[in-house]
Amino acid sequence: MPRTAIIKFVHAINRLARPLFCLLAVISGWGQNPARQKSPPDVFLITIDTLRADHVGCYGYRNVETPALDALAAGGVRFTRAFTHSPITNTSHITILTGLLPSVHGVTDFGVPLAPEHATAAELLKQRGYHTAAFIGAVILDSKSLAPGLDRGFDFYDNFPAKANTKERWGRVERRGMTVVEHAEAWFDKHRSGPHFVWVHLYDPHDPYEPPPPYSEKYKDHLYDGEISYADSALARWIAFLKKAGVYDNSIIVVTGDHGEGLGEHKEETHGLFLYDSTLHVPLIVKLPRAAHHGLVIEAQVRTSDILPTILSVAGVTAPADLNGESLLPLLAAKQSGAPAPERALFGETDYPLRWGWAPLRALRSENTKWIEAPRPELYDLVSDPKELKDLYSSSADKEKVQTMQAEMANWKAKVPPANDAKAAEDLPDPKDKVEVQNLLHNAMLAADDNRTADARQSLEKALELDPKTPAVLRQLGELELAAGEFSTAAHHLKRACELHPEDSTAAFELGEAMEKSGDWAGARDALESSLKFAPSQLPARVLLGRAYLQLKDPKNAADQFEAALLVDSGNSDARLGLAEAHIQQSDFTGAVSDLEGFTKAHSQNAEALRLLARAYRGLGKEQEARLAEAKAAAAERK
Ligand SMILES: [Zn+2]
Repeated sequence: MPRTAIIKFVHAINRLARPLFCLLAVISGWGQNPARQKSPPDVFLITIDTLRADHVGCYGYRNVETPALDALAAGGVRFTRAFTHSPITNTSHITILTGLLPSVHGVTDFGVPLAPEHATAAELLKQRGYHTAAFIGAVILDSKSLAPGLDRGFDFYDNFPAKANTKERWGRVERRGMTVVEHAEAWFDKHRSGPHFVWVHLYDPHDPYEPPPPYSEKYKDHLYDGEISYADSALARWIAFLKKAGVYDNSIIVVTGDHGEGLGEHKEETHGLFLYDSTLHVPLIVKLPRAAHHGLVIEAQVRTSDILPTILSVAGVTAPADLNGESLLPLLAAKQSGAPAPERALFGETDYPLRWGWAPLRALRSENTKWIEAPRPELYDLVSDPKELKDLYSSSADKEKVQTMQAEMANWKAKVPPANDAKAAEDLPDPKDKVEVQNLLHNAMLAADDNRTADARQSLEKALELDPKTPAVLRQLGELELAAGEFSTAAHHLKRACELHPEDSTAAFELGEAMEKSGDWAGARDALESSLKFAPSQLPARVLLGRAYLQLKDPKNAADQFEAALLVDSGNSDARLGLAEAHIQQSDFTGAVSDLEGFTKAHSQNAEALRLLARAYRGLGKEQEARLAEAKAAAAERK
């Protein structure tokens, strides 16, 4: 076609297409403001931690006030049956931000880094010119410690201060919802030009349940609901801010929970151990630009992995290939046209029990059936038994159902990388038999966090009575006694933990510490050698082992340990001084001087180094230099 003909053809298409486009825009409710039509939507993600769907007003719960969530649902789309793939905060959030299953993104425990090949919502939107920021409510999502890699793609990630100058939990391990929102508002005020992707994490409903007044009073008999109502008030403030900033209309706002809360169902007080609906069923509300589809309620089962593909679809960003989730938008169209939507099965995972040496769990939830793979598997009919109280696994009538679910589960497992120790996990205890121990361990952890040592000790001793052979209980008790200065009691518990779980390098290191502090140098040496066998690059263990060898008058082995420590960190002062001491003990005074001369120049006020240098000079017969070093040491000590 000649060039002029092409131009005419394009103009003709445009003339035809324009009215059609306008008509579509009016019907769908999008693009009523032509100036805004071209601008990509702002994206606001709000995750409310530990939020059970059935404890939210618009989900039918009558004992809580959640006006912000209810209003957002009225102005958006509410999904009545949304489920998380994981009952663990970090794992679940990474699924929300990547659209990947836990065993695909691999962050199945705290502290595990998110591998760079998995793109996050922040990275994908930033590439398209979005200004990105994250505001977290708990230190467990801090990218410098327990959530490495989660800050990728964010221009600003609101981590906690490296050294909190408070013993209070507020500001050190947790921020109240209002504080999180204040931080988000302050950032937004300084970064007005869009489009924005802002993630706000409200941690409040997570235990301990301590809502501020007036929620503490109004909900005093059900404080978990008080936390939810308080978090809702923080959400209300954030939404009001977005409206005032003029960005509400053209935005997509997604609110969800990362997981629910056991609240004693199946004997689980909190979350993480099991894959029942009490911890997997979460609210999901999606407000689309221009309030498209507002008031729609979708009953089809959906998953938190569907959130990222939905956001990308609304923002017009191509989704990476191989996401596990799918956009929710086709479900809205299907609902409005009355067409059936294909079922979206939920593959649930928890590796959290592995922390205590118990079997990890996998679950498959279809619309009507739940299959839980465990040492003692479980099958539930979710229609007749939504609380999952009647396990049908052994009932002969359901053999066929079991086979179907097992086959379906095998299909899902084929999509994910194989578990590391799948074979070993088969022999581990069933978490169902350990839930009371886990509740006590959790209480002890909270008490220790709040410096309530006596309460922590009581919970742990009770756990030990229930289960004298769980290494994690012994280790936690040992750590508590170590911190309390009860070194021989600590050593007693840690020794038992190491006997039961010899590969636990941390317990062995702590045993070494406890023994060193009770003056048992040979015991400390053995424990530290064994710790380093399983984790050779531990710097503190190397230094402590070097010191144990010095005490045992074995300077050659001591020098080996300090040299190994310096290979890991050449600037480590303890290792440098330890090595000098080892050289002096071996009468290698020249070696000691060379260890120390440079060091004392850089650390001219380090009295210990100066005293060692004096001993080394004296060994070489350099009395004048020795006296000078001693004088400098004395001056440094006086300061
Ligand atoms: Zn959580």
